[in-house]
Amino acid sequence: MLPLPIFQLHRPRSVDEALTMLERHAPSARIVAGGTDLFPNMKQGLQTPRHLVSLAGVAELSHVTREPDRLVLGAMASLEAVATNDEVRQHAAALAEAAGAVGAPTHRRMGTLGGNLCLDTRCRYYNQTYFWRSALGFCIKKDGTVCHVVAGGTKCVAAASNDTAAPAIALGGTVAVMGPRGARHVPAAELWTADGAANTTLAEGEIVLGLQVPIVAGRRSAYEKLRRRGAIDFPLLSVAARADVADGRVTDLELVVSALAARPRRVTSVRELSIGQRLDAVPIDAIAKAAQAECKPMPNVDADTTWRKQMVLVLVRRALARMIHGDHYPSSGSAYR
Ligand SMILES: Cc1cc2nc3c(=O)[nH]c(=O)nc-3n(C[C@H](O)[C@H](O)[C@H](O)COP(=O)(O)OP(=O)(O)OC[C@H]3O[C@@H](n4cnc5c(N)ncnc54)[C@H](O)[C@@H]3O)c2cc1C
Ligand code: SF4
Repeated sequence: MLPLPIFQLHRPRSVDEALTMLERHAPSARIVAGGTDLFPNMKQGLQTPRHLVSLAGVAELSHVTREPDRLVLGAMASLEAVATNDEVRQHAAALAEAAGAVGAPTHRRMGTLGGNLCLDTRCRYYNQTYFWRSALGFCIKKDGTVCHVVAGGTKCVAAASNDTAAPAIALGGTVAVMGPRGARHVPAAELWTADGAANTTLAEGEIVLGLQVPIVAGRRSAYEKLRRRGAIDFPLLSVAARADVADGRVTDLELVVSALAARPRRVTSVRELSIGQRLDAVPIDAIAKAAQAECKPMPNVDADTTWRKQMVLVLVRRALARMIHGDHYPSSGSAYR
């Protein structure tokens, strides 16, 4: 078993206190929430903070509440709380389904929404032990200068592997952030970048406070995930679909595909194929083909890119069909079909 490196743990009771601690110990301080991703990464020498600022005692971040026009989810809400909350399941089904599809029950109980939104990207050449990576000569994302995924590549293209990213974008979510320069609200669509070495737009010392998702009458959504086993595995491909419907007709449709590259991808051509259509007449096959044409899986995870590209067609069809017919993913998310 790999040992956890030595670090100093700080336990603030408020966001203000956490910000102060992060600033005091920068640049060798890092936030820890549930620790389900950070601790394994530290054991592999991927992240080497000497100070961890735990948000576990910051009670103001654990809420999952409904306001008249939006859901307000704290960063420290567990994935299980997000997956099983009735309001989230009703108004943001894709997000509940995605949270319920993360890892296994233990990860969802310990793992948080904030930790999932801020999850490090993953790559078959990066999520390895120090010994393994040193034998390969390291890579751009950590300790090296080359990319093993794109020959001659100068930018890391590790995969955005967080299940909640695609639905956060598809549902028009907004991420609340607090940092040394104050508070800001970032549209989820602008939280992630194409740089797998550091794929969020968060600045040093900033804390994600939570996610707000608008409640819209006539809204439907669904999430689909490709993984090898029915539990535990990270997504090899993920799809979130959302439609807004008024008088039986689609007024807006969003489709987001993720886990193929560092940034989730909004499929641009779906609107023209769907807006104004009756919901039951939405051209599922045409949308799925358009999505497949736009998506280019990188060979960044240990799965065949041709298969992942073919599965875009399958998962988009499934997500749209479930969204249209209102079928729910199992609430625990553990039984992926
Ligand atoms: C075996 C295994 C399987 C897994 N399967 C999946 C899976 O299928 N899908 C998936 O998405 N994930 C998976 N995970 C990863 C992880 O369990 C989840 O992503 C979880 O949601 C991470 O949340 P956490 O609270 O544990 O984050 P942590 O591990 O505490 O933190 C993760 C990162 O986010 C940062 N961070 C945490 N909270 C904040 C905040 N509020 N503001 C700013 N930065 C913050 C941390 O500094 C760290 O860089 C898996 C992990 C393991 C070990
Ligand atoms: S995509 Fe390239 S640079 Fe990024 S982690 Fe993988 S091998 Fe390293």
